[in-house]
Amino acid sequence: MTTKHILLLHGDGIGPEVVGEAKRVLEWCGTAAGMSFVFDEALIGGSAYDAVGTPYPAETLEKAKKADAILLGAVGGPKWESLEYAKRPERGLLGIRKDLDLFANLRPAMCFAALADASSLKPEIISGLDILIVRELTGDIYFGQPRGVSVENGHRVGRNTMIYADWEVTRIGRVALDLARARGKKLCSVDKANVLETTEMWREEVQKLRDAEYKDIELSHMYVDNAAMQLVRAPKQFDVMVTGNIFGDILSDCAAMLTGSLGMLPSASLGAEINGKRAALYEPVHGSAPDIAGKGVANPIATILSVSMMLRYSFGLNAQADLVDAAVANVLESGLRTGDIMQTGAKKVGTREMGDAILTALQNLAANTKVA
Ligand code: NAD
Repeated sequence: MTTKHILLLHGDGIGPEVVGEAKRVLEWCGTAAGMSFVFDEALIGGSAYDAVGTPYPAETLEKAKKADAILLGAVGGPKWESLEYAKRPERGLLGIRKDLDLFANLRPAMCFAALADASSLKPEIISGLDILIVRELTGDIYFGQPRGVSVENGHRVGRNTMIYADWEVTRIGRVALDLARARGKKLCSVDKANVLETTEMWREEVQKLRDAEYKDIELSHMYVDNAAMQLVRAPKQFDVMVTGNIFGDILSDCAAMLTGSLGMLPSASLGAEINGKRAALYEPVHGSAPDIAGKGVANPIATILSVSMMLRYSFGLNAQADLVDAAVANVLESGLRTGDIMQTGAKKVGTREMGDAILTALQNLAANTKVA
């Protein structure tokens, strides 16, 4: 039996509650797939600071490097906001992303039919939406030198540098093209090639890679201003989109809100493949929600959908991932809602009840489809 090691980083606030439900889904899927999932845990964020005086203990990095995949809840909260910068919970998250060189951030935007009314867009524009934004996460204007604010000729001057090397473009391009190949075989690369030379090079490199190795993928290029407009005008025209760090930061938040609620949005961050293993961290897009922490009312769906991404991208268990997505859809169809996605006529449930309902839906689906 294949064994996979999964590291759970519960983090702060609602992190432990939502990771708890997602772990139950993972356990079920492991058994169903005939795969042995071995779980370990480590500290991160404010809870790590409280326990050992640092938000990012060395032991956490050691365990993360050994794991086949990592599931993280969320970090942060008002309790730790006055700490010095190096001890704040967010340092844990930024540290692990950097140390594992997680350069590819995958943010799907899916709209479940039952929630089409929750979007600020018309239901027909949004219903059935299933797009994936691939954002480069370790380069671009956030890291380029020179940077900073100086005084020049009596005026304050601020500067940041947009920078990419061809190999950085090729490696994120390859991730996106592979993902497109496994989905609808359509990739849109987003840039501002009409005015920024860095992104003109980006466009050329992505095109070169597609022409050399991915002739089966339909590649288009779009300027970022048009892409933002198209995302709200007709988002279903896209399948996979790939872009640099700053454009991706903005476009992925824009796409995320098409679907209505933070409690529904999963994400994955992938690193380079080393000796056949790719570092991978899965986490909900939302934060630690201190306002509802410990009350048992958080929506666990974003974390459960992050588990679906883990099954798909780290373990190749596409049938189980499809089951998880379908189980979530069925539970929403049945009218169960956590407070954040509550609608008139629906039944309000807590974190555990939502987890229970998704597990039951999984069992029913598996019995009916015999996929598992
Ligand atoms: P947040 O995402 O934690 O919460 C925003 C609002 O959405 C809150 O009203 C919250 O109750 C609600 N919400 C979020 N997730 C929910 C869920 N699963 N179910 C139901 N409701 C949910 O953002 P915030 O309030 O700006 O930040 C709170 C803390 O989280 C801060 O310390 C922030 O730094 C941190 N944060 C962490 C991450 C992360 O760990 N990746 C991301 C964003 C914010």
